[in-house]
Amino acid sequence: MAVRDIVTVPHPVLRRKAAPVKDFGPELQRLIDDMIETMRAAPGVGLAAPQVNVSQRVIVVEYEDAEAGIPHQLYAVVNPVIVDFSRATEIGTEGCLSIPGIIGDVERARKVTVKGFDRHGNPLHLTLDGWVARIFQHEIDHLNGVLFTDRAVRVERVAPELAAALDRV
Ligand SMILES: [Zn+2]
Repeated sequence: MAVRDIVTVPHPVLRRKAAPVKDFGPELQRLIDDMIETMRAAPGVGLAAPQVNVSQRVIVVEYEDAEAGIPHQLYAVVNPVIVDFSRATEIGTEGCLSIPGIIGDVERARKVTVKGFDRHGNPLHLTLDGWVARIFQHEIDHLNGVLFTDRAVRVERVAPELAAALDRV
């Protein structure tokens, strides 16, 4: 495994629509391992392949919230698609590893249903709620060339230490 460089705006790969994965071979396995290591090193709670300059539809998410009773979960999802958004939304503050020093408030669906594949090509069907649903929406946006600043109702420039205190994705 290796930590890869995280690209930042205005790198063009962040604006490209990423290609679906067709081959679940060793190259994908290496990519996912490296993305997990890169996310942990950042540190962040989510990462999409375009953020390591690979224009393919792969995301990783790692999250836990002991206070809220959410156990540790590590997701690697290939070709994720949001098939259902709750009508209920909420506004939350997001930061992005590819947009240093900026945070912003974004309205997102409170719950989403995501379909995709695990790293071995087995179908996945996830029902996600709250903060982890937000992370998935942020990461899947990355696969479509969309950044949280496109959706934010308010953005703010902050010191890098402050941005780093937030869960970045
Ligand atoms: Zn991001």
